[in-house]
Amino acid sequence: MEYSLLVSFYEGLEKTTKRLEKTYIIAKLLQETKEEDLLQVIYLLQGRVFPAHDSRELGVSSRLVIKAISQATGANSEHIEMLWAEIGDLGLVAEKLISSKKQTTLFSSKLSVKKVFSNLQALATLEGKGTVAKKISLVAELLTNSSSNEAKFIIRTILSQLRVGIAEGILRDAISWTYFPKVVGIFFKCDKCKQLSPKSEKCLNCNEKIDANFKTEIQKPHKNCMEISSIEEIKKQKNKIRNYDCIIAKDEKTAREIYNNFISQVQELYDMCNDFGQVAIALKNNSTVTITINPGTPINPMLAVRLDTLKEVFEALGSPVLVEYKLDGFRLQIHCHKDKFWFFTRNLENVLNQFEELIPVIKDNVKGNSFILDCEIVGHDPKSKKYLPFQNISQRIKRKYDIEKTAKEIPVEINVFDIIYLNGKDLLNLTQKERRAIIEKIIAKVPGKITTTNYSMTSSLNEIGKFYKESLKRGNEGIMLKNLSKKYTPGRRVGGWMKFKPNLEPLDLVIVGATYGEGKRAAFLSSYVLACKNNNKLLECGMSSSGLKEKKEEGLTYEEMTKLLESLITKKEGRNVIVKPKLIVEVIYEEIQKSPTYSSGYALRFPRIKNLRTDKPLKDIATLEDLERVYEKQRGRNTK
Ligand code: AMP
Repeated sequence: MEYSLLVSFYEGLEKTTKRLEKTYIIAKLLQETKEEDLLQVIYLLQGRVFPAHDSRELGVSSRLVIKAISQATGANSEHIEMLWAEIGDLGLVAEKLISSKKQTTLFSSKLSVKKVFSNLQALATLEGKGTVAKKISLVAELLTNSSSNEAKFIIRTILSQLRVGIAEGILRDAISWTYFPKVVGIFFKCDKCKQLSPKSEKCLNCNEKIDANFKTEIQKPHKNCMEISSIEEIKKQKNKIRNYDCIIAKDEKTAREIYNNFISQVQELYDMCNDFGQVAIALKNNSTVTITINPGTPINPMLAVRLDTLKEVFEALGSPVLVEYKLDGFRLQIHCHKDKFWFFTRNLENVLNQFEELIPVIKDNVKGNSFILDCEIVGHDPKSKKYLPFQNISQRIKRKYDIEKTAKEIPVEINVFDIIYLNGKDLLNLTQKERRAIIEKIIAKVPGKITTTNYSMTSSLNEIGKFYKESLKRGNEGIMLKNLSKKYTPGRRVGGWMKFKPNLEPLDLVIVGATYGEGKRAAFLSSYVLACKNNNKLLECGMSSSGLKEKKEEGLTYEEMTKLLESLITKKEGRNVIVKPKLIVEVIYEEIQKSPTYSSGYALRFPRIKNLRTDKPLKDIATLEDLERVYEKQRGRNTK
């Protein structure tokens, strides 16, 4: 593929802020992309040349870019610096200089995506003597052969400033639009260009107004269509479904379910490898879609849903259930292949260097050639031997210097609670019980260094209650409850795991802003900005989108809340609104964290709206002091 084609898509993406339009543009690009270019196009779309979890960096500074621009255009560094100060973006500076140079020179060869990609990757691999000069010439070579707008995007990519706004969700949806059939009712056929365009006022292909009415469209099938009456049929025909161009569902609700199912299929593949490049290749190949799990490539960790009362546990997870301590440390995915190790945090950052002291511990105490372990890393006080709260070890994660010294001062213990891969075999489909049995077999416990999480398998509510109390007494956060027959589900809160921990005291807060939702909640204001007060000022302290109900019988609904809030709107900005501070709500949450994001300096973690407090005046809402008090109290509990 020529790089200029990719650039024309970057330009399209730059022009719109609308999610649907961006998704459409990317899907169109992917349709035009041959398999041999696919990985590179997907990485470049994200402004990178390695997958997100790969920590290799191009290592190109603005200074070096200035030298490369100078070499390619003949402009001197001072002039480039001056333009940079004036325009503020080296991409635009390169564009300007290349454009004036191109008026005086005739020749340049056409740049391919492959060439740009390989020069950029080479930047990351250079080491040793003469590296700077080699880097300059790799960048200058690209600039010499590029047009002015190509130069702009090359420089922005190199400096990690692509700014075309492709969030993960947009890329995921675009992949689904490209490799799964279009669902009629989510997509509509344009009478003019005959293309299927997503529900929008205009056809995104030709700008003609489209009739986005489900009923009319269902009578206008497209070529190579399949009629489907239920979501179950899709699941049964999983291997065949992608041979069709479009699906006609029996009604609007089924159409939405099918569409969501396609999106989740892409998400599931992504959760196994964290690499949309690999996902697109697996789907383009069209045969059975497989993503192989390999040590070195992080898997999105399985997540837990909150359990409100212990009484519901067996209903939610079956009986007996696996109960474990919920430790207050940080999640670590330990990957090992022979002598090579990777330690991925929940954000998929490899923190091997910061925790190198764990390598011999793992080598000596885990039986296996290659494995992926899911663990919680907990700090402990070498003197008292007690667990330390997360705050104390969090500094080790970001540490760049004095790593050995801090490792001695703040030693950590590996608590293994799951296994995903062992000796060449993917264990995702084994049951929780089987996986737990494996970790008990392969891990030799050395207190203070490595162990498996404390657990019990029980059908007794009484016993769970005791286990919970014991866990809190030891300074843990609560308990984890796990369904013994469920497989490991990367990346999702599917309910196979639940967490149970004490709620802190509820706070009465006022809603000061809100945002319209997506999908079935598109018509409702469904996330709410919460504020507490400090003297006469309102200070934001979090954003909540949970706790409300879909149906009236179940309690306060999104619809009711939307009506109440819409009458209070003072300003609209896109999908966000600012409202008069009138609606007071009772909010429960799991924790209060310090946060620079909100004006109060605090953020409620997992806030849920419990009730409207129509009885409360604004002057009686929670104060900043209340938040500070809960914050301190919770630290007290953790440090016991
Ligand atoms: P939360 O962050 O509150 O959603 O709780 C989930 C987190 O609890 C996981 O990501 C782990 O880091 C942590 N955790 C602590 N103990 C366990 C355990 N026994 N099993 C699974 N996760 C645990």
